[in-house]
Amino acid sequence: MLGKMMHKQLTIGSLIEHAGRFHAGTTVTSVETSGETVHMTWGDIDTNARRLAAALNRLGLEQGARCGTIAWNNRRHLEIYFGVSGGGFVCHTINPRLKAEQLIYIINHAEDQVLFIDTTFVPAVAQLRAQFTEVKHIVVMGPRDADIAAQIDGVLFYDELLAAETGDFDWPDLDENLPSSLCYTSGTTGNPKGVEYTHRTSVLHTLGGNQPDGIGLRARDTVLAVVPMFHVNAWGTPYIAAAVGAKLVLPGPNLDGVSLAKLIDAEKITVALGVPTIWMGLLQGLEETGCTAASLERTIVGGSALPTVMIPTFRDKYGVELVHAWGMTETSPIGTLNQLLQKHSTLDSDAQEKLREGQGRAPYGINLRLVDDAGTILPNDGKTEGNLQICGHWVIDSYFRADDSALTADGWFNTGDVATIDADGYMIIRDRSKDIIKSGGEWISTVELEDIAMSHSDIAQAAAIAAKHPKWDERPVVIAVKRNPSVTEAALLAHYKGKVASWQIPDRVVFVDTLPLGGTGKVLKNKLRESYDEVLLE
Ligand code: ADP
Repeated sequence: MLGKMMHKQLTIGSLIEHAGRFHAGTTVTSVETSGETVHMTWGDIDTNARRLAAALNRLGLEQGARCGTIAWNNRRHLEIYFGVSGGGFVCHTINPRLKAEQLIYIINHAEDQVLFIDTTFVPAVAQLRAQFTEVKHIVVMGPRDADIAAQIDGVLFYDELLAAETGDFDWPDLDENLPSSLCYTSGTTGNPKGVEYTHRTSVLHTLGGNQPDGIGLRARDTVLAVVPMFHVNAWGTPYIAAAVGAKLVLPGPNLDGVSLAKLIDAEKITVALGVPTIWMGLLQGLEETGCTAASLERTIVGGSALPTVMIPTFRDKYGVELVHAWGMTETSPIGTLNQLLQKHSTLDSDAQEKLREGQGRAPYGINLRLVDDAGTILPNDGKTEGNLQICGHWVIDSYFRADDSALTADGWFNTGDVATIDADGYMIIRDRSKDIIKSGGEWISTVELEDIAMSHSDIAQAAAIAAKHPKWDERPVVIAVKRNPSVTEAALLAHYKGKVASWQIPDRVVFVDTLPLGGTGKVLKNKLRESYDEVLLE
């Protein structure tokens, strides 16, 4: 016999309903694409999201219809998150930095029927529109604009759509297993693949990811979501902020260090989330502006490995704690977060810092294991490196429109990362399996080599790659961007002495002006390999 408690569906509508009811007066601040800063409330967001859901019904969309967004982090995008998913449609966030052919592929593969776009993307969409096979409505996120109307035939304007509705739309009691949102992986190899989240996985990720040792947001926080809303739902920040009723700040298109430093001080941000390159930029921005980030308590950093030198810099100069996190599009994304255990409180600060450099441990809701190439489970001893596999309440089962499962026969998702896990469950990413360097049969971690390069004060950015070698098959080469123009290859190679075994020291350093970055700001190592994998054969 089943238990005797209520069964309520876990829906995204229930999150915004909660924020609208119990946190109606809490501010949501948005830097608009025009540069203007607007202050709204969770009550306003709830009302506008309801208006939007009503408008989509009026346009004749059927339940489950996919609506794409090409937009920055701003309040209309937030309303679309809740209005589309809460209304029973699927919110498909699209990375605007993708190449034209990838945009066309993704929009057609998703069969998006509506496309919400920020004004920034009007020219691009006007040009590509004829190639979108299913899009019925393009909605520009703003008031009517005659210039834009002249560029896109039949374009709709977001503010007009909402003005025609009253805001008394009731959030439907959807089945929690229906799809709520869709994100494509950036597809550094092959076509991008879609990950379709359900209402249930999104709500469980909200609850599971926001435990005290997780993202840990509270109603009294002011949260800055720097991580783009087109990248894995901004790591779930909009949902978490709504669930706890935190003040939310959306920074718009300008994510340079100076803009962020000013915004952090102006809005008195307490918690911020973003990728490491953003925080590198912020450090410079703080120095340039003299901003102090006095209100900032912690930042959640993930998406690529955190350069370890940033931890003491932020702590000692600005009193900011860096929380390292790991995840993937396929894991909604939270997989691990790095917070200490009670027993670590007696460790000295160096030992504590060392522990916090890793990617951390799994929250309730996630399970991790290491396996070798034959699938044999490896020990969690902190030393043995293996293929990292994950399962849990918010992990993918199969890709969007794929018939076959994305999982192993026993139900785990293979992450493509190589990691160690210690006896307490602390996981450290050693590399992506496709990036790791195999020199004479031994593995060398590119993540570690990059971290050492970036701890040199004259180096701004670095990427380590495998270069072909006649004797060892592969040897490490570092591609670096100088901070100080006088730094030499010999000086950087000398910096490795004593930090890694001598055979792991890179064979060469190639200095470049910039590193090629992908749509989510990660270094495109496949591009670097194409350009430099023969430098040792020359
Ligand atoms: P993509 O696979 O297109 O890069 P994701 O954004 O889903 O898209 O990236 C997930 C991958 O990013 C992980 O598998 C891992 O390799 C890397 N990653 C994420 N967070 C971290 C981190 N904190 N440290 C090292 N690598 C990370």
